[in-house]
Amino acid sequence: MKENTFTPQEIMFSPTTQCNLHCAHCDTEQTGKVLPKKAALKFLDACNRSGIKRVGFTGGEPFYALDFLCLISKEAVRREMFFDHIITNASWFKTEKELRSALNRLFKSGYDGKFFVSVDAFHRQDLRKVASFIKTASRIWTRPDIVSIASVKGTRENETRKKLKKLAVILNARFTGLTSQAPRIKNQNLIINIFSFNLSPVGRAAGLKDPWDGKWFKDDFCKGPGHIFFVLSDQTVKPCCGYAHKADILTLGSIRRDSPRQLLLHARKNRFISTVFESGLHVIRKQLESSGVRFPGKTTNHCFFCYYLTHHISRLTLNRCLNALRKKP
Ligand code: SF4
Ligand code: SF4
Repeated sequence: MKENTFTPQEIMFSPTTQCNLHCAHCDTEQTGKVLPKKAALKFLDACNRSGIKRVGFTGGEPFYALDFLCLISKEAVRREMFFDHIITNASWFKTEKELRSALNRLFKSGYDGKFFVSVDAFHRQDLRKVASFIKTASRIWTRPDIVSIASVKGTRENETRKKLKKLAVILNARFTGLTSQAPRIKNQNLIINIFSFNLSPVGRAAGLKDPWDGKWFKDDFCKGPGHIFFVLSDQTVKPCCGYAHKADILTLGSIRRDSPRQLLLHARKNRFISTVFESGLHVIRKQLESSGVRFPGKTTNHCFFCYYLTHHISRLTLNRCLNALRKKP
């Protein structure tokens, strides 16, 4: 097997696109489509048999598909699979009672992964709800570090910092600051690690004023968030949940008709996917440049580069480039 062959290690389900928020940078179209549980279960089973053992959930807001989360969690436990995390905005509930009941149901289903809560300048949720979510989850799972925070950095870092400070005050905890070695919010009952990442100017985020402070672009291999089967609510499967994942060229197939084995075969046959994962994005850049394409600069974010290739370079030019690469020894 080639060193960088696409080898999915995890299934990430996006059971619904529905969400209680409408963040300015979000490209999720809230279509109301819901991933059918039966098809997802069949796919989970087939993945498990082929050695993919880790499961995660994202959205929209995945708690709007609580039945799905509970069923898949229960069945994953039955098959001795592992959990990665659930990405949530932690503000989807109307009452504390609803929050407790949902988290208790999820706990009883056997889910023992973590929660990633998005808190930053771009997510406008009620921080008191986020605090309740954190306290309730940590109490039910009896784990002080059950919740981590994912924060978008960039030019709005000050605003993000203020929100994190405010959250710490509500939790009666200490915020160590975003630049500390291990950014976290902490008190005697809670350890909330904070992970920051750059927001790339893609999709709706491209229309925002100064959405990020990244650079245009220094290419690289696809290092992820690839190597997963990302199952969308319309049942299509992508090889990653990176910025470019929605591009048609990154479609592997559908859980409606394809087994994990067939999806892998499609990935190997898809020249864009196989080149991105096996040879690296830099090979595509060099080939395009040699045919006269000029890029606006360098970026430190390979998904941003991938987005540029799939959204700003014509399919014809991209196909010519991939054909030329195929003929190279
Ligand atoms: S919480 Fe997430 S899914 Fe919901 S609108 Fe914001 S970015 Fe989109
Ligand atoms: S968007 Fe492209 S570079 Fe990013 S993880 Fe997906 S395939 Fe890799």
